[in-house]
Amino acid sequence: MKSETGRSFYIHTFGCQMNQADSSIITAILMDGGYVVAGSEEQADIVILNTCAVRENAVERISHHLQFLRGAKRRNRSLLVGVAGCVPQHLKREMLEMFPVVDFLAGPDTYRNLPLLIRDAVEGKRPAALDFRIEETYGGIEPFGEVGVGAFVPVMRGCNNMCAFCVVPFTRGRERSQPFSAVMDEVRRIVAGGYREITLLGQNVNSYADLEGGKDFASLLRAVSLEAPGCRIRFTTSHPKDISPDLVDAIAESPNICSHVHLPVQSGSTRVLERMNRGHGIDEYLETVALLRSRIPGVSLTTDIIAGFCGEEDEDHEATLTLLRKVRYDTAFMFYYSPRSGTAAWKTLEDTVPLAVKKRRLQEIIDLQLLISAECLQNSVGSVVEVLAESESRRSPEQLMGRTETNRAVVFDRGEARPGDMVRVQVLKASSATLTGVNKGVLPAF
Ligand code: SF4
Repeated sequence: MKSETGRSFYIHTFGCQMNQADSSIITAILMDGGYVVAGSEEQADIVILNTCAVRENAVERISHHLQFLRGAKRRNRSLLVGVAGCVPQHLKREMLEMFPVVDFLAGPDTYRNLPLLIRDAVEGKRPAALDFRIEETYGGIEPFGEVGVGAFVPVMRGCNNMCAFCVVPFTRGRERSQPFSAVMDEVRRIVAGGYREITLLGQNVNSYADLEGGKDFASLLRAVSLEAPGCRIRFTTSHPKDISPDLVDAIAESPNICSHVHLPVQSGSTRVLERMNRGHGIDEYLETVALLRSRIPGVSLTTDIIAGFCGEEDEDHEATLTLLRKVRYDTAFMFYYSPRSGTAAWKTLEDTVPLAVKKRRLQEIIDLQLLISAECLQNSVGSVVEVLAESESRRSPEQLMGRTETNRAVVFDRGEARPGDMVRVQVLKASSATLTGVNKGVLPAF
């Protein structure tokens, strides 16, 4: 389908939920500018790669895709290729030299300029909009293109924390929060749209601060929970140092705020955490875990771990394994450290751990965590859990897939249930990552 600009677009999204939410914002901006969504990448006049720079192989992954688009451009000379998000923000205009196939670049704060950038790209100017705009929160833009039973609401952007290994402060800029009223407007729109789950997003979501009304994240969470009583409320990613007792109380008090906290620890060693500039030691972290566990019975904790950070010794690695045994996370994202250019660690710390050692330590962490995850899943066999049905299972149209409040995937017989229903499911079996159960009936809304 062609639009009044005569052009259609397709967005290929890499990375995290924040990038998925940003793709919905980009879609809304381009539609407002007279462009339309193409049915597939092959049919599009403009292809935009919305990229993530957090992992080491981010550039390789998009370069592979750009390679493919080079072939497509040979067949269709008017095809425009844009790269948005963290990778161009990180690599700057150098990206245009690295990849001649790219026609325009847009950093995370410049999406409102996209219609203009595309116009310049049509004229062959190869524009790059990569400035930081501290006031940009994309307030007033109604995201377009959410699918499924849940919707994302970015409530803050950027990060002020400067963890030594992380590129986010350099690709997403300084922290800024959506005004409280704008978040609530968005929540009302989502509720009216019939969604059953709302995920509040931010690089450091629990440092949310509404400048107008002085609301912090705990107040925001309570307000969203009351405004959307028929929805499950989730949030990510939280920083352990910003988990306040009031925030824990807000989760404990509100029946529709999920009992799941992603609490990235990165290392079990205080010495390494200091080098990482995480702003807390292991004792404070364990106090936060104890507070969450005491106030929210059955709370699910998940985490991120980096193996082999600069200066990590065997005893630090042992401390990470000890922490895993102590906290018993439901799941974890686990990686070995690789320096990212521009970060504090890249500038000032020596990457001392040999690759083979990093890989061995990572494997030990993965092996242990997989064992713990399997035990956690096994413990739920026999129990009855509340599952928000999301979609048809990949295995069979007779089955649905959904998630528990603690974010575990569950497959169960469809019965009368449909995606969007809250279903009581008795767990019969646990595999390495999924529970299987039997449908015990659809629940009324919260
Ligand atoms: S809190 Fe640390 S790891 Fe998280 S986005 Fe900010 S700098 Fe990166």
